[in-house]
Amino acid sequence: MKTLLLATRNQHKTAEIRAILGSRHLYLTLNDFPAAPPVVEDADTFAGNAAKKAFEIALWLAKNWTLELDPGAFYVLADDSGLEVDALNGAPGVYSARFAALDTGHPGNSPDAENNAKLLRLLGDLPPEKRTARFRCVLALAHPADQKLRIQNVECFDGACEGRIQTVASGRHGFGYDPLFVPNGFTESFAELGESVKDRISHRAHALVKLKEFLK
Ligand code: IMP
Repeated sequence: MKTLLLATRNQHKTAEIRAILGSRHLYLTLNDFPAAPPVVEDADTFAGNAAKKAFEIALWLAKNWTLELDPGAFYVLADDSGLEVDALNGAPGVYSARFAALDTGHPGNSPDAENNAKLLRLLGDLPPEKRTARFRCVLALAHPADQKLRIQNVECFDGACEGRIQTVASGRHGFGYDPLFVPNGFTESFAELGESVKDRISHRAHALVKLKEFLK
């Protein structure tokens, strides 16, 4: 059995990852490591931020190993993800979590409701065919026991989900921009469709299928 430390405190991401990878692994999250150093997400790509998160946490663990777990079967898994809106030239992109805060200068992430309100404001009354968008996810896997642990050696797996941004938020499931995002082939948002559909077709699901194959 492998142990995966999910390098996140986002419960929704954790639930989606566990639902898709299944019970064959033991899962930990950053909540189990309160002393883990914060990682500054300052790369300009999802892959850059995901690799940085996995690498820095794995390096810290390698230097501070006190766990009674087999280091040979221990991996750090990071997820960096976000929304690209074509009419906004790919924004919010890597700034998805702090989209609204970019205007106020507040450090840290913004509440989902503020990010969604800003997105709707910027898109105004653009017609449906001009509201195309996609979610992207990059998962990065680092092995603290790897003697050659380098950021360049971190394995990355990507996934995308195409859709469009509707004009009003709807639905109660999921998180982030889910109430605004309608995936192609559907008429309801991810937040209305719920996890049974999202865990099958989402950006994260596509990346996780690749990771699952790698971990076999
Ligand atoms: P990260 O934690 O830095 O990767 O930020 C990801 C941000 O992108 C989240 O805070 C959400 O705003 C958005 N996001 C990523 N994945 C999803 C998703 O599956 N649904 C809705 N929003 C998402």
